[in-house]
Parts: sequence; C-alpha cells; structure tokens
Amino acid sequence: MSKSINKHSIPIHQDNQPGKEQSGLSDMDLMSHSKEAFSKMLDTLELLPYRNVNASVSATQRALQVAQQSGDEALIIRTRLIQADIMARQGKVAEAGRIIRQANEWAETHQHNHLLARSHRLLASFFRRLGDNESALQHAVISSQLLPDDAIPPLRADHLMMLALTLDEVGAYDDSTKHFDEVLNIAKATDDTLLSLFALNNMAYTRFEMGDGEAAYRLANELRDIAARTNMQLSASHLDTIASIEILLGHPEKAEATLVPMLRDPLSRKLGDLNVLPECLLTTAEAQRLQGKLKQAQKTLNEARHMCREQGLTGLMVRVRLQQSEMYAAAGDYRRAYEEHKLYHQENEAKRSAEREARARILQMTFDAEEARKDSEYFKEMALRDPLTGLHNRRFMDPYLDDLLAQSLINGQPVTAVLIDLDHFKEINDTLSHQVGDTVLVNVAKIMSMTAPSSSALARIGGEEFLAVFKDTDAECGMLHATRLCQAISSADWSPITGKMTVTASLGVGTTTGGNLNRMELIAIADRLLYEAKRTGRNRVIGYCNTTNTLE
Ligand code: GH3
Ligand code: MG
Ligand code: MG
Repeated sequence: MSKSINKHSIPIHQDNQPGKEQSGLSDMDLMSHSKEAFSKMLDTLELLPYRNVNASVSATQRALQVAQQSGDEALIIRTRLIQADIMARQGKVAEAGRIIRQANEWAETHQHNHLLARSHRLLASFFRRLGDNESALQHAVISSQLLPDDAIPPLRADHLMMLALTLDEVGAYDDSTKHFDEVLNIAKATDDTLLSLFALNNMAYTRFEMGDGEAAYRLANELRDIAARTNMQLSASHLDTIASIEILLGHPEKAEATLVPMLRDPLSRKLGDLNVLPECLLTTAEAQRLQGKLKQAQKTLNEARHMCREQGLTGLMVRVRLQQSEMYAAAGDYRRAYEEHKLYHQENEAKRSAEREARARILQMTFDAEEARKDSEYFKEMALRDPLTGLHNRRFMDPYLDDLLAQSLINGQPVTAVLIDLDHFKEINDTLSHQVGDTVLVNVAKIMSMTAPSSSALARIGGEEFLAVFKDTDAECGMLHATRLCQAISSADWSPITGKMTVTASLGVGTTTGGNLNRMELIAIADRLLYEAKRTGRNRVIGYCNTTNTLE
C-alpha cells in the first residue's frame, strides 16, 4: 500500500475564499510605530506561514517595509526569517536556508535569544526537508531548549511540534508521542482548533507509520469529531491521512467514502493544496482497486497521472506507476504489471539520485561563504535604504553628512544640502489615491537619481520629503543642481500617472564651507529656505544667499 501523506507541509485553507488573503493583520497593526507593538504583531505573523502560507505572504512583505523603516536590525532579521519560512514552503529551499543560517549567526553574535530559538526551529525544518533527520533533530532540540519560560503558548507548541516530528522521523516514537501530547494540551488549553487538528493529524500519521492501525484510527476519529464539533472542514491532507488509515485497517470502502465527496466538490478541489490533490486521487484509486472496482480505479488513476503531468510532479509520478502496476496485476495482466513495475523501479532510482543531487546542491548553496557574505551585506544595505523608492534613508544620511562636514573642516571644501518637498502632495493622495501617491514618489526618486550628479547622495527622509547632499559643491553650483532637479520634476510627463494634476516640488538650498555649520544647523537653513519657497508660491528653489529662481 502507499503512504500518501504529506504530513507536515499542510497549508490549511479555513477561510474558504480562494485568492483572498486573510492574515488577520491589518495595516494599522503593521504600521504601528511602537517597536513593542510591532514586535507583538510579529509574534502572530511568525506562526502564520505554518497555518496558512498564502495568507502570510503580503502581510510579511508589508512587515518587512515597516521593519526596514524602523532600522532595528533585530526586527528586520526577525521579519526576514518569516519570509524565509514562506520561501521554504514555496520550494525555494536554498534561498531560505541561507537567510535562516545568516539569521542564526547574527543571533549567536548578538546573543538574541528569541532569534536564536526561531532560527534553530527553522533550521530543523530546513534539514527535515532535505531528509537529514539527525541534523533536523539537533536543531529542534536546541530550539525547544532555548524557548524562555514565558514564551507564548502557540510559539511553544510550534517548537514542540517540530521536536515531535523530528523525533518521530528518527524512530523515537515514545518521546515523539510525549511532545505531540504536550502540543495537544496547549491546543486544548488555548482553544486552538486548527492546532489540535495539526497535532492529531501528525499523531495519527506517526501511529500509522508504526503500523499501529487501531491507535491511528482512534486519533483519526478524534480528528473527525473535532472538525464536526467546530464546524470546520477537514483539509484534503487530513482526509488523506484518515483514508490511508482506513485502508490499513482493511476498510477500503470507508476510505473511498472519506475522499470522494471532497474530490467531487469543486470548491474543495480549488482550495486544496496542489500537491495533496493528486495524492488523494492516488489513495482513492487504491481504495477502489482494493474493492475490485477496477474500471473506476483506472479512471481515478488516469486523473492523478494527468494532474501530476500538468503540475510537473515527477516525484508523485513514480507512485502513479506503482499503482498502475498493481492495477494490471489485479486485472490479471501480469506481463504489463511486470513491465510497469520495472519502469517504476527505474524511475524511483532516478528520482532518488536526483533528490540526492538536489540536496547536495542546496547544502552547498546554503553554506557557501561567498553567498553568506553577500547576504550579510544585503542586510546592512537594506537597513540604510527606503523600501519604497530605493533611495537612502535618514540612517544613512545623518552619519554621511556628519562625516562630510568633518572632512570639510579639514580640507575647507564646501558642502551643499538641498531639502526637497513635493507641493500639494496631499491633494494627489486625496484626489487620486495613496497608491498613485506612492507611484509619484517612486518616480520623483527616479528623476532625482537620473538628474543629480553621480557623486551626490540622495535620501527620502519623510513622506514626500527628500534630501540631496552634494560634496565639494559651493552655493552657486548647489543652486544649479537644485534648479535642475526642480525643473526635471515639473517638466516630466506625469499625465500617465496623475492625469491632469501636475507634480512640482519646492527646494531649499543650504551651503557651508570649511565645516562652519554642523549637520543640524545646515539642515535648519535649508529647511527655512524651503519654507520660504513654499510661502512665495512653490515650484521654486531658494538658496541661502537669497538668490530666488522662480520657475513659474
Ligand atoms: P505642501 O505643498 O505645503 O508641502 O503640501 P503637501 O500636501 O505636500 O504637504 P502636507 O504635509 O500637508 O502633506 C503631505 C502628505 O504626504 C500627507 C501624507 O498623507 C502624504 N504622505 C506621507 N507619506 C506618504 C507615503 O509614503 N505615500 C503616500 N502616497 N503619501 C504619503
Ligand atoms: Mg512635507
Ligand atoms: Mg509637501
């Protein structure tokens, strides 16, 4: 018989709304400015990919923007770890592995307990995916030991579940059962139905693997009871577990009855995990064959084969072959059964060696020193960039300008700082949309990058406020650069983005020579002149020698 259970990577869709993302996290949560509140929000987001990977994608992207804006390295890495978890579930295992390992090193260096625990937890998943069960277990043990006593219950459950799964994988069934029980207790105590279902599904599968059909069946029934009690639909993957157990116990008719209604329901099919549906079809074909319904079984198997081909599931195709061979045997066609079985063997060998190669490649990529260095630079660089426009941010600009002014004190070279604020930007947001506003900001940044000399530093320092710093640039030359920026913004063709609405900016230009002003003083001058530009009509540049350059 076939073991058709993909027991851990189970995306559950409770929301019954295909395509709609329901992370339960509002933008208000994400945009919360308090680090403490943001960190609390991450507590929830961290556990979402396991429960519903689709719902976690865009929430995590937005969270990363917020984390980057905060500039807090620990928060950035924590959010990147969530992204890595999503990537791994989407099959980008090597990329995910690198991020997780990088985060793990950072957490070691900074003795960041939570990130250490989480990165070990995700390393356990990583090695489990690669089939290295010993390494997976080591990381799972560490990740559970590192959890502080006051860890929130769902987090503890998540770590214990991974520990139980990895213990199960190395055959330590007693220990594994103990930890599954703990997870189940947490699920019950916190009224977390979804977690109960996950735990029971995994426990049932463990018993099934041990060949303990009776215990597996009891757990499967519990799974059903909970779903019925809470009015929750069991996922395709859970139903497949139950059906496989029913086959093991010699009840193929029950197995068919378990799976067929789900397979006939177009909505369930639409919501089911693409990997799990063909597995369900394979289990159904087996159940039908065992009842002697060969015609029906062949039809179901054909459908499974078609789905595997369509989705490129070469791994599952091997199991289709095995089923086909048994089907021929059941029909008394032993010659074709034998031929098919030979093909099954060949393909299974090819699949195993491809898996070995893929594993080696992923490990090599994950632990490649060069890649690790790039990742670390990426982390650093991201903390200094504005996620929307890609320009630098204030965290980059402040020390940069401080350094430049310190040099100016030594070499006597002038430094010019230009503050740029978009005019009536609120109207663009209000009349068109915040999204159009964002597009305008992105394009203003592009125009600035193309117009300013390559030696200049450009940053977005507020909503619609930018700062350009020109080194070795005196007031006259600074005015020239600023005027070019102002003109480039106002003369661009904005009609595809804003229709009839114009986009202009006001600019204030401050210059210091010989470092006689500090950063705050220089910016204060530029700010005062910017205010002057606004007051006298906008879409203009005002420099500190009071040279007015009206563009209207
Ligand atoms: P003024 O000419 O006096 O500068 O008028 P203004 O409307 O540009 O200035 P105000 O400060 O009144 O409004 C700035 C607006 O910028 C308000 C806020 O909604 C918007 N804003 C801030 N950050 C963002 C952002 O990231 N994206 C978008 N689309 N809008 C933003
Ligand atoms: Mg402003
Ligand atoms: Mg403005």
